[in-house]
Amino acid sequence: MKGKILGIHHVTAICGDAQTNLDFYTQVLGLRLVKKTVNFDDPTAYHLYFGDTAGTPGTLLTFFPYPDGRSAQPGIGGALGFAFAIPESAAEYWKQRLTQHNLRFEEKGGEIEFKDPDGIQVQLVPTRWQRGEAYGDSTVPTEFQIRSILRVTIPARDATKTENLLSQHFQAVKQGEDWVMEDGSRIRIHADEAMPFGHGGHGSIHHIAFRTPNDAEQEAWLEFLQTSGYRVSPVMDRNYFHSIYFREPNNTLFEIATDGPGMAIDEDAAHLGEALRLPAQYESHRELIERSLPPLRIGAPAKR
Ligand code: ZN
Repeated sequence: MKGKILGIHHVTAICGDAQTNLDFYTQVLGLRLVKKTVNFDDPTAYHLYFGDTAGTPGTLLTFFPYPDGRSAQPGIGGALGFAFAIPESAAEYWKQRLTQHNLRFEEKGGEIEFKDPDGIQVQLVPTRWQRGEAYGDSTVPTEFQIRSILRVTIPARDATKTENLLSQHFQAVKQGEDWVMEDGSRIRIHADEAMPFGHGGHGSIHHIAFRTPNDAEQEAWLEFLQTSGYRVSPVMDRNYFHSIYFREPNNTLFEIATDGPGMAIDEDAAHLGEALRLPAQYESHRELIERSLPPLRIGAPAKR
């Protein structure tokens, strides 16, 4: 028996300058910074979480800033970009907003496509589908806000193998070009037999995490992956959720993360992202960690 997959939990990427990244996702795209913490595997680097007002799983986009790193080369082993859902009537608003921020975009089949400051391909897709809740202090008015991650595109030399994982084990259903999971979020496979291997760096999508409801379902997944010949990590306590990691058949890093305990486990829901939160194992090193991290200015008040 294996556990359930509900949909996308979060997408984690690597950026260069933390302040540039923070300004772009909060001031231009209007997301909320819902957690300011460190990379649990390397506490000298930040881990910034953006999302809806509550940091609901499925709305989360997270970044590890590595200002001294090299630029990424997207390819096998990574992801090619992600799409946010926007309300159906919000396309004109977003085109104007991107223009005001001097951001070049293209329109493809009703979707708006541009690159973030580190070169990650981002799409805005007008759709009736949404998860997540409006953020009252966003720089974007409620009726136009980005609410959640709709889709991630991954490259594959042999698409069938990844399609089998999605259809047989994630219970995803093919709709048009996309594999749609239970909560409506999607994976798109870009099949290309000649796709070169990518390498990490700023602008790379490090992994895609998928929602599972609880620890028991995650345990079932762990057993299933082990018995199916995948190399899978033990359960990692990420404070806000519990995670296991494995590489899918075309080598993109997948994570299966529990919906809980959630972003409010270590700070008040009204003040998410304002203070540096550290997991218990690093709390005694707080002073040293704070000194090693660059200061971050959390955006100007909302402009309407
Ligand atoms: Zn993750």
